[in-house]
Amino acid sequence: MDGTATPKTPANLVLLGPPGAGKGTQARKLEETFGLVQLSTGDLLRAAVAAGTEAGKQAKAVMEAGDLVSDDIVIAILRDRLADPDCANGVILDGFPRTTVQAEALDGLMQEIGQTITAAISLDVEDAAMIERISGRYTCAGCGEGYHDSFKQPAVEGVCDACGGTKMSRRADDTAETVGQRLKAYHAQTAPLISYYDGKGVLQRVDAMGQIDAITTKMATIVQKTIA
Ligand SMILES: [Zn+2]
Repeated sequence: MDGTATPKTPANLVLLGPPGAGKGTQARKLEETFGLVQLSTGDLLRAAVAAGTEAGKQAKAVMEAGDLVSDDIVIAILRDRLADPDCANGVILDGFPRTTVQAEALDGLMQEIGQTITAAISLDVEDAAMIERISGRYTCAGCGEGYHDSFKQPAVEGVCDACGGTKMSRRADDTAETVGQRLKAYHAQTAPLISYYDGKGVLQRVDAMGQIDAITTKMATIVQKTIA
């Protein structure tokens, strides 16, 4: 599709946020509201390999050799994908870029196709609250009903409200320690990207600890401004 035929600026977003910040939920809302397409690196690679594109073949060979797909190949796959008609309104990039080198390569691609990254939206979380939120979760092993140490205890301790079961289970990687480590790793990895997009004047910070609807509204306002 000829990019110049697109009547308005495509809203190309980079979505940043740690696991548990609600990235998936918010991305789906933006897809619905603005006709955007969420592109995660894994999905992009799988689709290109399945489609057998030139870049997809390269990615397949690299992955079969057990190596990481290079930035050049990811950019080539992204270049192909952005030319698809369903991406005309813009895309939500999730998981790419992860480094400033990748962010620069992405900007190069955008320039090449006459587009820009219109906003890098950072879903900001409070680490202590996130640790409490995630590490407090548990579910009934019998029926899957979800509970939380602080926010949703069953009426009778240890007994499922829904099915009366008494076996509760917790995900092994949801302990306070592992959640804390995940957040620390996220901040370390993302800080350079935050600076990069701040320097480009496109960084938007959204408090991700509030109500889902309020976060959605704030993100929609940001996107609306970038395409106006
Ligand atoms: Zn139950």
